[in-house]
Amino acid sequence: MSDKPREYCGIFGIFDHPEAALATYYGLHSLQHRGQESAGIVTSYYDEEKGRNIMPSYKDFGLVLNVFNKPKIMNKILKGRSAIGHNRYSTSGSSKNPANIQPFRVHYRSGNIAIGHNGNLSNAKQIRDRFRKEGVIFQSTSDTELILHLISHSIKQDQMGQIMDALHQIEGAYCLVLLTDDKLIAVRDPNGFRPLALGKKDGKFCVASETCAFDINDAEYIRDIEPGEVVVIDKEATEKGEVKSYFIEPKAGTQTSQCIFEYVYFSRPDSMIFGEMVDKIRRNLGKALAKEHPIDEVVSNMDADKKPVVISVPDSSNTAAIGYANENLKMGKECKYDIGLIRNHYVGRTFISPGQKSREQKVRTKFNPVRGVIEGRSVIIVDDSIVRGTTSRYLVDMIRACNPAEIHFLVSSPPIISPCYYGMDFPTPEELIANKFDRNVEKIAEEIGVDSLRYLSADGLVNAVKEANVSENDYCTACFTGNYPVPVNFGVEKEENELV
Ligand code: SF4
Repeated sequence: MSDKPREYCGIFGIFDHPEAALATYYGLHSLQHRGQESAGIVTSYYDEEKGRNIMPSYKDFGLVLNVFNKPKIMNKILKGRSAIGHNRYSTSGSSKNPANIQPFRVHYRSGNIAIGHNGNLSNAKQIRDRFRKEGVIFQSTSDTELILHLISHSIKQDQMGQIMDALHQIEGAYCLVLLTDDKLIAVRDPNGFRPLALGKKDGKFCVASETCAFDINDAEYIRDIEPGEVVVIDKEATEKGEVKSYFIEPKAGTQTSQCIFEYVYFSRPDSMIFGEMVDKIRRNLGKALAKEHPIDEVVSNMDADKKPVVISVPDSSNTAAIGYANENLKMGKECKYDIGLIRNHYVGRTFISPGQKSREQKVRTKFNPVRGVIEGRSVIIVDDSIVRGTTSRYLVDMIRACNPAEIHFLVSSPPIISPCYYGMDFPTPEELIANKFDRNVEKIAEEIGVDSLRYLSADGLVNAVKEANVSENDYCTACFTGNYPVPVNFGVEKEENELV
């Protein structure tokens, strides 16, 4: 239903907290936007009666609220003071395979271990081929399982040694939470593609994909986990109030490549990622858009009776649209920001409108225009990105039916020309509207039915994230530029090499 790329996963972990499962549940709930097809929690505790460590797990297809829908799941099943959780989105086919729902949990020679993964390993094929030759049996089609095999096959004796050994063999995008019988381990790949933050709740350490998972838990944000960092939280770390930190030896030529699209669309605006609030960066994107395309150069008649109105495609474009309108006002260019589209929040991904399954109907189910805001005005629609353009077309048709003077479409990012191989679900290059029309902006405008279309430039995008205290060179921009920072060699069909 959505014509946006999809994030594959959200992860959360907490160590030595009396309400570990509950905190993880809330954390996953706030990270729901990062994966809506399945959710899972694994906890850990020592069972006095049985005389051994236990690692209960509860996971299923569905939203967090639907999966953990009975009090006994939290109270009776997910016992223990440490927990990790995972939200997942997957492509069709393998999404039906319950074996792919994370966290994965296994018992091997060094005890129990569970893992949750956000990202996509770029050397999964080589690792899988190697294990296949050795006769290893796979339980899932996920590349995350390969990490567990690498750990259990390590010749190192101690568990941390085994984990570091495995981490030195994987490449690509990965943020991990690992739970062992006595530790919580959080890992961010040396390129730092996906965000991962360290926090503290009631004096106990926790980790999450985004800081909104700390806010819901009344936990404090401490810092980002660095690219290549392996944070180990155990009893000693908790007592000292200081995590142990190790680093994965980066391969020659590795450079920080944080996903710039997290700022454009994926992350929640109330989260802090890569050292800066998403909301602030998204407003910067709107400001940059105003500087590149001031409203008086966009609309044909600034002197019409009714001022031009700037509206957003809710929710991800709200802040960029506000940034655009405010910057225009600052430059003395009259316009107003208003709510021109209402989004129905109660439409799940699996919603099927009885009898009518067309995309048009699905868009109508999700959005409705506000006629009073639109009628007779020049309307500037601000959206964060255009992928296939199909949803944009239907939105424009709905807005056109409200009799605006004209419709202009502004995008707070450059045209998307390449798919992502680092943990996002994009369509194929041929399906991307920018490629379909040879990146000809006039033709794309015609296709989506607007009077004009304008994108933010690649320089404008990169400059807008500068405030995040890291160099503009520290970002991956591959879906806009085609410059991939890590070579990709999956070599297996997408459904077999399931992304997470
Ligand atoms: Fe992010 Fe795009 Fe790079 Fe993927 S290709 S990591 S979506 S910037």
